[in-house]
Amino acid sequence: MNAPIPQAGIFPRKDRFEIPDGVIYLDGNSLGVLPKGAADRAAKTITAEWGQDLIKAWNTAGWMALPKVVGDKIAPLVGAQQGTIATGDTLSIKVYQAVAAALRMRPTRKVILSDNGNFPTDLYMARGLIDTIGKDHELRVVDPEAVADAITDEVAAVMLTQVDYRTGRMHDMDAITKKAHEAGAVMIWDLAHSAGAVPVDLTRSNAEFAVGCTYKYLNGGPGAPAFIYARPDIIEEVEPALAGWLGHDAPFAMELDYRPAMSTERLRIGTPAIVQLSILDEALDAFEGVTMDDIREASIRLSERFIQEVERRCPMLTLASPRNAAERGSQVSFKFEKGYEAVQALIDRSVIGDFRAPNIMRFGFTPLYLDEADVVRASEILEDVMKTEAWKDPKYAVRSRVT
Ligand SMILES: *Cc1c(COP(=O)(O)O)cnc(C)c1O
Repeated sequence: MNAPIPQAGIFPRKDRFEIPDGVIYLDGNSLGVLPKGAADRAAKTITAEWGQDLIKAWNTAGWMALPKVVGDKIAPLVGAQQGTIATGDTLSIKVYQAVAAALRMRPTRKVILSDNGNFPTDLYMARGLIDTIGKDHELRVVDPEAVADAITDEVAAVMLTQVDYRTGRMHDMDAITKKAHEAGAVMIWDLAHSAGAVPVDLTRSNAEFAVGCTYKYLNGGPGAPAFIYARPDIIEEVEPALAGWLGHDAPFAMELDYRPAMSTERLRIGTPAIVQLSILDEALDAFEGVTMDDIREASIRLSERFIQEVERRCPMLTLASPRNAAERGSQVSFKFEKGYEAVQALIDRSVIGDFRAPNIMRFGFTPLYLDEADVVRASEILEDVMKTEAWKDPKYAVRSRVT
C-alpha cells in the first residue's frame, strides 16, 4: 500500500465504487459496496488465469501466495505487522481456531469469558468447541460493562467483539487486554465491525489473537474470506486445532504427520477461495492513501450529524448507540418498536439500513463512499417515513429471510 497522502477532501471517494443511482447506502457495516475494478478482477481471475493457465495459475498467477498478500494489505488497517495475518475460511471458523489455540495455551484453566453483546456465532462456536473437547470448559457470558471485573484467574481466554453489532458500543481494547494479561488469560478480539471502520492497533494492544471478516467495511463482497491474527512472538505456541494441509510447513511434501508452518500461515486450513480473494485484493486498494485516523475523523463527523438530524426530526426514535462518539464504532442505531417495518419503508425509498431483532434500526457510516449530503438526505427521508407513518403499509411487515 502506498504511503498515506495527506490532503483535504480525500472523502468520499465515490468514484472508486459502483453505487446504484439514487441509493444512499448505510449498510456498509453488513455488506460493503462493490468497488470498481472488482468485477474486472474477478473476470480476469476466472477467464485469463483459471481459463487459460488452468492449474499452472497456482504458480503463474500467484494464487498460492494470495492469502498472504491480502493479509499483508489488511495488516496496516488493524495495526499489525506484515506477515501476522492469515486469510481464508469464514469468521466463524477463525473464531473457533483462535479459541481452540487459546485454550491449549492455558491447559489448566477452564473458562472462556465473553459478553452478551457478542455476535451469536462467536458464542455458538465457543460452545461447539467445548462440546468437542470434552465438556469440562465453561463459556461464561456477562454484560459488556461487567467484563473487566469478570476477568479472574479462572479465565483461560477472553473472547470479545470490539464493536457491538447492534448498538455500536465499543470496548476499550487496550484496557481490557491489559486486564486479561494481568490475570494470565489469553485475549481474542473479534474485529468484524472494527476493521476498516475504526483505528485498531493490534501491536500496541498486545492481544494474542484477533479475527475479523472482510465483507463488511473492507468491501470484499459476499462470502469474502475472513482473517486471523496471531501475535508473532507466540506463533510457535499456537497449536492449530484445525490442522489443514495448507497450514503445514511443507504442504507439497505430503507428509503423513502434521508439522505446522513456522508463521501465521499455520492458521491456514485448506484451498483458498481464489476468486473471492482476488476481489478482496482489489477492494483493499480503495484504502490507498488514507489512514484509519482520517476515516475515523470522517466517520465521527457523519455519525454525529446523523444523530443530530434524526433526533431533531424523529422524536419517536430512541438512540440505542452510545452518545459519546469515543465509545461508538462506525454505526448508529435507533430503537423503534416497529423498526423492521420502518427499515423496509426506508429501503423502498432507496435509503438502505438494516434491522436487528428485537427493535434496532441500524445505520453504518462508511466515509469512503458517503458524504454529509447523503446523511442529511437519509435523515429527511427517515423523517418522512416516520411522520407519515408510511411504515404502516402491510407490505413492510412481510419478513424476509435476511433482515
Ligand atoms: C459478521 C459477524 C460474524 C459473521 O461470521 P461469518 O462466519 O462470516 O458468517 C461473526 N462474528 C461477528 C462479531 C460478526 O460481526
